[in-house]
Amino acid sequence: MDQFTHTNGRLHCEQVPLDALAGEVGTPAYVYSATTMRDHATRLKEAFAGLDPLVCYAVKANSNLAVLELLAKAGCGFDIVSGGELARVLLAGADPASVVFSGVGKSEAEMKAAMEVGVLMFNVESEEELDVLGAVATFLGEKPGVAIRVNPDVDPKTHRYITTGKKENKFGVDLDRGEALARRALAHDHLTLRGIQCHIGSQITDVAPYAEAVARTRDLALRLKADAPHLEYLNMGGGYGIFYKDEKAPAFSDYAEAIRPVVADCGLKLVMEPGRIIVGNAGVMLTRVVFNKTSGAKKFVIVDAGMNDLLRPSLYEGYHRMWPVVGEPPPPLGEEGDHDPVDVVGPVCESGDFLAQNRPLPTMVRGDLLAVMSVGAYTAVMGSNYNDRPRPPEVLVDGDRYAVVREREKHADILGNERPDAPYRAIGEATEGDAS
Ligand SMILES: *Cc1c(COP(=O)(O)O)cnc(C)c1O
Repeated sequence: MDQFTHTNGRLHCEQVPLDALAGEVGTPAYVYSATTMRDHATRLKEAFAGLDPLVCYAVKANSNLAVLELLAKAGCGFDIVSGGELARVLLAGADPASVVFSGVGKSEAEMKAAMEVGVLMFNVESEEELDVLGAVATFLGEKPGVAIRVNPDVDPKTHRYITTGKKENKFGVDLDRGEALARRALAHDHLTLRGIQCHIGSQITDVAPYAEAVARTRDLALRLKADAPHLEYLNMGGGYGIFYKDEKAPAFSDYAEAIRPVVADCGLKLVMEPGRIIVGNAGVMLTRVVFNKTSGAKKFVIVDAGMNDLLRPSLYEGYHRMWPVVGEPPPPLGEEGDHDPVDVVGPVCESGDFLAQNRPLPTMVRGDLLAVMSVGAYTAVMGSNYNDRPRPPEVLVDGDRYAVVREREKHADILGNERPDAPYRAIGEATEGDAS
């Protein structure tokens, strides 16, 4: 469910008409619905009522500070993957005791920073990581919480780039090694085994692999529990799929129904790390048509947003619905009717720079406004300055008001770190003052 509706001949986000908003903030721009984000966080918790899960929103999906603040207020903890994300959630007012730290390549500096503020758990993904974490903890005299990330070897049948729970990818350790790794954590004087975690992939639209993965992870946790007095958490990760095109994305209640019997009465507290399902359908990107062009039989609509603003189509064949903001409301999926298929492309100098290919769309002319749907997750965060393009603003809408929660980048911001007249120096010549 989201808050984007076509009324009075134009698309609205909540009560804000998006053509008028584009007139005030310019294009391209990302627009998020605060109500949708809040509602998703609340309804996810409600679906699992009784299990009282700790919902750790996966910051990497959309890390805007205003979004994090809103979700912290809605009762979310956070799943972070870097020291930068740690700094962000702290700025947003997160309680470190509800923060879990994931990722295959944490640096010692990141471990130290997270230990010092007292995050709930580090999700540990390898033997070497556990040893380094133990060494850092010993040095600091800390006893951080640890969860072992296991790979339950189930196939979530999602795109190959975003599958993570099979044996042959870089995340986690298999169940047998997971048990050995957990025992190694237990034996360490400066580590506290708090949980077992799995995360099997992203944009998964079937609940069955979850039930299977969580059951396998639970069994391992229960095998360890007798020897692990602090083992309290069963972390099932994130990855819940959303509706981009014609997927049958399960409802929160479908997940809850499948998972509840697996975790109820097992004596462990459920942790979740949802990203996309909280924010994905809460955002649109507004972009204007720059030119129309035909090339042989092909029709191109060139818009002012490119792959640097929305990478998902180029990176993993991501599909985003799109429709003109003003005019006829969008028809039901699959009924785009007689409209000619066009390629919607950006201004970036790459053939891979497209937002949609062979998409039936009404005829648009220079200056028309197009809304690209479901860009609340993995979009602004993946943006880049390729082709020296300033990043678009992020706008949060709540009811009939809006706030520009990230300003449009300026060329000066992009150029700010460049030093064309920096002196050349030999290795070792840098003085402490100018070493960076
Ligand atoms: C990316 C990620 C998530 C969130 O995934 P979504 O598909 O956005 O729900 C959760 N946990 C871990 C460890 C991740 O890497």
